Amino acid sequence: MYLSISFSKLSFRDNFSVAADYSSYFNEDYEMLSESFENLSLELLNNYRNVEYRKVIVPSQDSDKLTFGVCYVPAQKNNKNLLILSSGVHGVEGFVGHAVQSLFIDRFLDEELIENTGVLLIHSINPYGLKHMRRVTNNNVDLNRNSPSTDNLYSTVNEGYPKVYELINPQKKVKVSSVENRFFFLKAVNEIRKVSMPVLRQAVLQGQYQYPKGLYFGGLSPEPQIDSLRPIIERICDPYQTILAIDLHTGYGERGVLLFFQDPVDKERMDKIESLFAGYTIDWGNTEDFYTVTGDFTDFVEALNSEKQFYPMTIEYGTLNSQTTMGSLKPIHIMILENQGQQFGYASERDSIKVKQDLLEMYFPASVNWRNHIMEQSKMVFDSIIPRFTSGNY
Ligand SMILES: [Zn+2]
Repeated sequence: MYLSISFSKLSFRDNFSVAADYSSYFNEDYEMLSESFENLSLELLNNYRNVEYRKVIVPSQDSDKLTFGVCYVPAQKNNKNLLILSSGVHGVEGFVGHAVQSLFIDRFLDEELIENTGVLLIHSINPYGLKHMRRVTNNNVDLNRNSPSTDNLYSTVNEGYPKVYELINPQKKVKVSSVENRFFFLKAVNEIRKVSMPVLRQAVLQGQYQYPKGLYFGGLSPEPQIDSLRPIIERICDPYQTILAIDLHTGYGERGVLLFFQDPVDKERMDKIESLFAGYTIDWGNTEDFYTVTGDFTDFVEALNSEKQFYPMTIEYGTLNSQTTMGSLKPIHIMILENQGQQFGYASERDSIKVKQDLLEMYFPASVNWRNHIMEQSKMVFDSIIPRFTSGNY
């Protein structure tokens, strides 16, 4: 009983030392976030030449007309470098993504930067997920498994998935206090014993294309926003030779720590990326708790820029200390319950609230101290990489 109780609580006493308050960058309302990004974009449009801002509509059965924002500030003198900063591929992670993008516009996007460097900001790519505080799109699609960089993405077979299907896709209403949920931890440990944690993690997280209602579904074709983005990205990237594409995520890893990770690229580019991000450790998929995914968004942007010097980077802001084997079970359990609730409903309103609260806390921690800390960390990252990227040595 002790195990199940200690496992079911989500509480942290953050004690990061922070020097400034960044609360004004954070907001929990989809409409306000898109309005805020629009205002920042219109300001850029007033200040610099040939700035483009557009709202891209994402059609859905949802009666809402949901949109995401694209703002492009071209290099004002020479089209040398392009910096792409994207957020909200996983809807609910866009709250932090918005804050970081706003910080970037506020403190780093200035005349000096854009002299030889263009900036492309893609804001909240999955507006349904942001609005409804979900990770997936309204088609139950994980956009970071849906972004094609090859022709055969949607026929990819995740061979381990059927083995974990029952564990991660219970076919009934969610009751948080049920025996199987209270003892999910033990059940999962039992599965880990059978196949090992790396195998289990890979099977669960890689993405799958056979079970439309299952967890980590990557879709059967590109989601509308991926199709809309393709020509925009192609056109904007076209004049630039060197592109750094940073995609912002939250959830995975040690609480308050920025995790830099990427599928490996060729040696020469890996060295360049290592030197761009000098001072930070990059996980190239070679540590024990890493996993690879199919349909990753940065791989999609890279495939549209195969002739360029393209430097992709995913930054993940850790929230739940999921870097350990046992720690990683909690986030998976939250994801399971949330998808189960969506597909089969909740036994009670309390169950629904509890699961949704946990999911929000996992991707957008309420702690002001955590938020201030990660903003300070982000500022330090931009402080170190931007001068290097714009120096012309890449
Ligand atoms: Zn994510």
